[in-house]
Amino acid sequence: MTGIYIHIPFCRRKCHYCNFFSLASRKLKDPFLKALKTEIAFTRDYLAGQPVNTIYFGGGTPSLYDPLVLQEIIDIVTQPRNIFPAEITSPPDPSPKREGRNFSGVIKEITLELNPDDITPTYVGRLKQTSFNRFSIGIQSFSEEDLVYLNRSHSAAQAINGIRLLQEAGYNNLSIDLIYGIPTSTTNRWQKNLELAFSLNVPHISAYALTVEPRTPLAWMIDRQKSAPVSDETQVEQFKILMEQTKINGYQQYEISNFCKPDRHAIHNTSYWKGVPYLGLGPSAHSYNGTSRRWNIANLTKYIDGTEKGECIYEEETLTTAQKYNEYVMTSLRTMWGCDEKMIYDFGNTIYDFFIENTLPLIGKGLVTEDSGVYFLTDHGKLFADRIASELFLT
Ligand code: SF4
Repeated sequence: MTGIYIHIPFCRRKCHYCNFFSLASRKLKDPFLKALKTEIAFTRDYLAGQPVNTIYFGGGTPSLYDPLVLQEIIDIVTQPRNIFPAEITSPPDPSPKREGRNFSGVIKEITLELNPDDITPTYVGRLKQTSFNRFSIGIQSFSEEDLVYLNRSHSAAQAINGIRLLQEAGYNNLSIDLIYGIPTSTTNRWQKNLELAFSLNVPHISAYALTVEPRTPLAWMIDRQKSAPVSDETQVEQFKILMEQTKINGYQQYEISNFCKPDRHAIHNTSYWKGVPYLGLGPSAHSYNGTSRRWNIANLTKYIDGTEKGECIYEEETLTTAQKYNEYVMTSLRTMWGCDEKMIYDFGNTIYDFFIENTLPLIGKGLVTEDSGVYFLTDHGKLFADRIASELFLT
């Protein structure tokens, strides 16, 4: 099985912390769609005919497009005579209220990232004429002060209203994104954010620590002391609260930043963490086919010009055994499925010995635990996930 990621490179405005490739100007919206359709045709062989079981529209802000325009892209990707044979399956969220398309014989999971300010009754009505069956809503915080600080384009009321509109339309397969460790946020406010999220009954929460990326307005504000710095202590404290509160409220931490009610994990993202091949379409999108990784040019004009001249502009690298091992260790340790020594063994005896030798001290320090040959981060270890993975990396 494989997945397709489609990167929509437009936003209403740039959030202060964001270093994703996206543009606040939308003047190339139409040429981009044309280029995307061309890229789909060019990449028909990339996944070598393996069935696609997930499609994910991310960005950027995909909900800046009308749902029926996005549906055209889904239709192109899933045309039987086209490139990507779909796995025939039942939808995971067969809402009795849903109208519109017949969902028999569709890809398992088709996700749309939405910004709360785009979720209006009209927009949701049009969504019901599409094949989308999962929505990931970029909420980040339910506090107005945090939202202004982050330069988000929506209000807390729009976020709550957006969730309710989707639920009333029969969509239950919802995920929300939250950010913790925001300098304007207190521990009490973070707790309130979580309580509100639980009360809204969303089955999936992705929660990330605020990261200060270079060359962002956030970095500029902190450098010039126009904002308090991001505090490591606060982030650790809020992450601990996140882990405790999600557990109490029946969510599984199935990946270090992702929490879901039983069986509601994101199929598409889980595929990334399990090393399943995927194709990324759109500027800056990454692809992986099991042996190499490639990434499209992060420049919209060049991306469009390239497709007009009959080429996709990307860079590619063939992964070495060491790179594959490092990536497996880093991603698997972050998940509830853990890092399996049988998989490590497949990288060769020397790497296996290196892994075991370097894991033992981590177990001794209570950062990693082992069960039947599978290694997991402990809750304490989750606070140091990147450092632990780097101690197990081959250089
Ligand atoms: S909406 Fe998302 S992609 Fe767009 S600027 Fe904000 S964080 Fe970046």
